[in-house]
Amino acid sequence: MPPINAPVTAQELSTLSTKAIDAKAAAYCPYSKFRVGACILTASGEFVVGANVENVAYPVGTCAERVAFATAIVAGHKEFRAIAVATDITPGASPCGMCRQ
Ligand SMILES: [Zn+2]
Repeated sequence: MPPINAPVTAQELSTLSTKAIDAKAAAYCPYSKFRVGACILTASGEFVVGANVENVAYPVGTCAERVAFATAIVAGHKEFRAIAVATDITPGASPCGMCRQ
């Protein structure tokens, strides 16, 4: 297992990107129509994906990054090396303000 601060390899970056893009297909965004996919690389080398999940009550929706982190944490992962976020816009969007905190 590489150290937590090990640079992301080109192969890991490629996998993060592909999985984040593919995760957009799982987005539930009937209100905004703004699909977001995310993929996390855990310290143990696993890739965990998430997609945004909206609710008619706006604040209840969950961004793709938080879905990915919650999924990873519930699976027992507590340390992460990298995250990729994919959208359908160019240039791509950065992680949401809540996640950047
Ligand atoms: Zn977020």
